[in-house]
Amino acid sequence: MQDTSWMADGNCKDVPADLFFPTDGAGVEIAKRICQDCPVIERCLTYAIENKIDHGVWGGESERARRRIARARRSRPRTMLRDMTK
Ligand code: SF4
Repeated sequence: MQDTSWMADGNCKDVPADLFFPTDGAGVEIAKRICQDCPVIERCLTYAIENKIDHGVWGGESERARRRIARARRSRPRTMLRDMTK
């Protein structure tokens, strides 16, 4: 079972959850502003990526941005390996 105790330290702990599931770009920006100085932002982002959460703002990133970050994280080891063999 995954440890989710870090969620209690998030800036969103006292904010209505639906604010993090916006329906437009303006809503995404509002949520991202709350995440901006969150002490658990990296853990939150990694959690969302590892669990393939495809709705809402997590770790200060929108769904689209998380997909891009996930692709970059997946390709990084291969790129590094390729660089090491040059
Ligand atoms: S990064 Fe954002 S969504 Fe994640 S715990 Fe912090 S405030 Fe909540």
